[in-house]
Amino acid sequence: MSHNIAIAIDGPAGAGKSTIAKLIAKRKGYIYVDTGAMYRAMALYFIEQGIGADQQERISEAAPDVDVTITYENGEQVVWLNGRNVNSLIRTEEVGKMASSSSVNKEVRKKLVELQQALARKESVVMDGRDIGTCVLPDADVKIYLTADSHVRAVRRYEELKAKGQECDLEVIERDIIDRDYQDMHRELSPLRQAEDAVLLDSSAMTIEQVAEAIINLCDKGAK
Ligand code: C5P
Repeated sequence: MSHNIAIAIDGPAGAGKSTIAKLIAKRKGYIYVDTGAMYRAMALYFIEQGIGADQQERISEAAPDVDVTITYENGEQVVWLNGRNVNSLIRTEEVGKMASSSSVNKEVRKKLVELQQALARKESVVMDGRDIGTCVLPDADVKIYLTADSHVRAVRRYEELKAKGQECDLEVIERDIIDRDYQDMHRELSPLRQAEDAVLLDSSAMTIEQVAEAIINLCDKGAK
C-alpha cells in the first residue's frame, strides 16, 4: 500500500505559508490543510460568546461546545463552526489576535490536533501552521520552516489589505505581527519553532514561484 505523503510548512505570521502551501498542494494533487483557519474558527466562537483573550478558564469550559470541521469545495478549504460556514468571517486582525491567545489553551489544541492528524491519515496533505513539523505530524515526509523579515511580512500584508480596499496602517500591522510571533514562540504548549529536521527557507528576497520551486524540489528528492 502506498503511504500518504505529508508536507509540513511552519513559520511566523505572514511568511507566505498559505499561498505557497496552496500552490504546492495543487501541483502535487494533495489536499491543503490550513490549520490557522481552524484556530481562527474557534477564536470566532469565543469572541461571539463574549469571552476575552485573557479568560483561559472560560475558554477551556467553552471548548467542548465548539465543533470545527473542514470540507473542500472546488479544492478550496471551507471551515465550518457548529455547522456554519465561517470562511468569510475569520480573516480579520481581531480574530487572528484572539486565535493567538486562545491557541495557548490545552483543550483547544487537543481538539484541533486530533482533527488535523485524522485528515493526514486519510489523504496526502500539505499542512501549514505553527506546530505541524514539531507536534502534529512529526513524521512528515518534508518539513519546511518558512520565514521572512518582519518588515517584509508587514509590507506584504499591507499591500494585500490595500488591494482589497481596506484601510490599514503599516506600522500597526508590523507591530501586530511582531506581537503575535512573540506570543506564538513563547507559549508553553507547542510553541512556534523550527523542527530539527526542517529545512529553513527565508522568503524575504524570494518570489512565490522561487519558494514553491524550492519546496517541490525537496519533495521530489526528499520524500522518505
Ligand atoms: O496562520 P494564522 O495567522 O491563520 O493563525 C492564527 C493563529 O492560530 C496563530 O497566530 C497561532 O497562534 C495559531 N495557530 C497555532 N497552531 C497552528 C496554526 C495556528 O497555534 N498550527
